Amino acid sequence: MIRFLDLGKVNAAHGAEIEAAIARAVRSGWYLQGREVASFEEEYAGFIGTAKAVGVANGLDALILIFRALIESGRLSPGDEVIVPANTYIATILAITETGLTPRLVEPDPVTLQIDPLKIEEALGPRTKALMIVHLYGRCAYNDRIADIVKKHNLILLEDNAQAHGAFYDTRRTGSLGLAAAHSFYPGKNLGAMGDAGAVTTDDEELENIIRALANYGSQRKYVFKYQGKNSRLDEIQAALLRVKLRHLDADNNERRRVASIYYDSISHPDVMLPPTPDMHRNVFHIFPVLSDRRDELQRYLKDNGVETLIHYPIPPHRQECYSEWANMSLPITESIHSRELSLPISPVLTDEEAIKVATLINNF
Ligand SMILES: *Cc1c(COP(=O)(O)O)cnc(C)c1O
Repeated sequence: MIRFLDLGKVNAAHGAEIEAAIARAVRSGWYLQGREVASFEEEYAGFIGTAKAVGVANGLDALILIFRALIESGRLSPGDEVIVPANTYIATILAITETGLTPRLVEPDPVTLQIDPLKIEEALGPRTKALMIVHLYGRCAYNDRIADIVKKHNLILLEDNAQAHGAFYDTRRTGSLGLAAAHSFYPGKNLGAMGDAGAVTTDDEELENIIRALANYGSQRKYVFKYQGKNSRLDEIQAALLRVKLRHLDADNNERRRVASIYYDSISHPDVMLPPTPDMHRNVFHIFPVLSDRRDELQRYLKDNGVETLIHYPIPPHRQECYSEWANMSLPITESIHSRELSLPISPVLTDEEAIKVATLINNF
């Protein structure tokens, strides 16, 4: 059986270092808001290329805290519109609605699967204040056209970098391209913890300070509460092991590129489309999506032949019960991607032989 993602094997590759880091955190006797988190924040900001990083409890909180901080600082007001790709993972949209903002769902480009810049301009209205791009599947969603639109319409640019730790736009990392970025270290992400964890990166000191306070009950000084905050902390044990995995992240992403290269070189089937990736070096292949009109049949065939695949994602946000008010919205490109997408196994520890087996099976489909 070729697993979609063998997390035990992924972490075992750095097992001794991870166990030593966890032991150090355990022995320190200090488990929250300590040295490991402070060091991780500094190292992660350095990696991404921002002045600051704030460790938080998970990726959804990172998104929510960015929007709340923008509201607390007067840069957004409830009811303002935020443009977001219609085919993103639900968390991006949940953060917008939870903070009283209004999502404007914009269709992706059917080839790149990333938000379509032409459709961003069509969606702009008088209350559109921000654009949240999502580097879905590990591919950079930013481009020169988006840069022009942001400038021309004076939009606040935000990034959901949950799936793209280490990816590049030109020479800059994703997560450093806008005013603030949310990162998730959910175990299956490229930089994955062993539990929940997340971070916000930004160059903006005011936002950093508000987010730190909001994540700590709204307090900047002990027992003094400036905001109605929440508790959203990264813990010392997760931070200690994330520091280890961060040191290996670029090399691990290169291993993902190795697998992706095999898929690109080997898969050729008239009914299976591989989204083009113009620059292997910048894509971190969190997910390797293929598109097929015979998706469900292909998934069953691969399963019968010992290959586990997943679908990212089976139901688009506007078709979810939690957003029943959007049930009649028509987003044909998003709907088409959700009905045709299949994610092939990919990870730093998937072997060449396994990738070739997957490719050969697909060619014989
Ligand atoms: C994983 C993910 C999130 C949420 O992260 P959690 O840590 O699970 O809360 C947000 N956005 C995207 C695009 C994701 O893939």
